[in-house]
Amino acid sequence: MWQKALELIRTQVSEENFLEFFQPLRFCDVNDERVLLEAENGYYADWIRTFHLAIPTAAVEEAFGRPLRVEIVARDAQMAEAHTGETCAPVEIKPEPSVLSEGGEEVLRSFPLNPNYTFRRFVVGPNNEMAHAASEAVARNPAQAFNPLFIYGGTGLGKTHLLHAIAHSILERKPSARILYISAEEFINQMIDSIKYQRMEAFRAHYRTHCDVLLMDDVHVLQGKDRTQEEFFNTFNALHSAQKQIVLTSDRSPAEIKHLEDRLKSRFHWGMLADVKAPQFETRVAILQERAESEGVELPDDVAFLIARRICANVRELEGALTRLMVGASVKHCPLSVPLAEEILSELMESHARSITIESIQKLVSEYYDVRVDDICGPKRPQVIAHPRSVAMYLCRKHTQAPFPVIGREFGGKNHTSVMTWVRKSEKEIAEGGAVKSEIDVLERKLAN
Ligand code: ADP
Ligand code: MG
Repeated sequence: MWQKALELIRTQVSEENFLEFFQPLRFCDVNDERVLLEAENGYYADWIRTFHLAIPTAAVEEAFGRPLRVEIVARDAQMAEAHTGETCAPVEIKPEPSVLSEGGEEVLRSFPLNPNYTFRRFVVGPNNEMAHAASEAVARNPAQAFNPLFIYGGTGLGKTHLLHAIAHSILERKPSARILYISAEEFINQMIDSIKYQRMEAFRAHYRTHCDVLLMDDVHVLQGKDRTQEEFFNTFNALHSAQKQIVLTSDRSPAEIKHLEDRLKSRFHWGMLADVKAPQFETRVAILQERAESEGVELPDDVAFLIARRICANVRELEGALTRLMVGASVKHCPLSVPLAEEILSELMESHARSITIESIQKLVSEYYDVRVDDICGPKRPQVIAHPRSVAMYLCRKHTQAPFPVIGREFGGKNHTSVMTWVRKSEKEIAEGGAVKSEIDVLERKLAN
């Protein structure tokens, strides 16, 4: 069955990518929930995990005849664990993978760049034209246009794509440029390890002196992490005063990041803030057409219109639907058609609705507001909890169709009138046009993922 899945994957990706990344995958195990595959090393595992999980997931589902998660482990990581019985202490911070550029200088990258995330393949519309123009300006003149550039907006709207595009574009012009691309989460982990293993000096040097362009993804996860914020603040200052370009992305504006130090917020405002919004219908159609064309697949207009009408919130989902459709069509040996698209879209909607639960909403809301699920559900009602609690209940009511008493039970045994009061509170604030509206937009977009 894995062989069959591989055949399907082959029809979905370029031959080079297939031979390099997918063919060498080794099938290890399958159970009720997941298929376990092994990649040769961490680089390959990360590349697939980060950028290309949708394709093997859809293919595995098709080949095994049921929905399965695809888990990819790295062979070297497994071997390291087998040798020591535990994960080894990092000896030094090595950007993975580090490649040698033509100039012979080391290009720092803590993550492989996705070859598809280029400006050429970024569809520009009214929803993202500012962010796109600013990114191009920064790529043309690093540290001279806007510094920092801060790109924000909901999930799946192209922020990471723009960051990679900036890196590609700078490297095309200047292959020796030392570019560091890292997610804020990875930055936090590296810092924790560095503290643990007393490698802070190396950590600092890595970011402050060996880097011309720092691209940091998803900085909103720094919220509430005081020590990391402090470290990042100093890194930011060192780079900025040395005229190095900094580009940051976040799922919300600096003002909306809770528990972010004021001095960091004000740094983020030094340069340029640009948001990305959900694309309009025409842009969604253009994105689908671009994607189909790059895969060499014929996408009739009526099929593109249908998908673009149904899937509005986010580009990742839009692409996911198209990928599923392409896999479905190649399995059935038929062209992309409206009836096939209808079938695939309704399956997607169903599995989607099933995946939103009261529990998943509680978790999402608590992460967003940086409070604990136990507090949201607990008996107390201090001011800091009131707002997240009311938003969480509002979302549960809207997205799970659970009756008030059931919601009350899942929120630590509250009675249904109290749930109604909390839900009304959010409804009222939304109607009054308060800030909660944009928070709920962000949360709903995350739920849609
Ligand atoms: P984010 O980082 O904002 O969550 P990503 O950059 O990961 O979103 O984008 C999700 C997917 O959608 C990626 O495959 C990306 O290439 C694609 N995408 C997003 N916006 C566009 C766009 N304007 N044109 C083409 N592809 C896009
Ligand atoms: Mg991203």
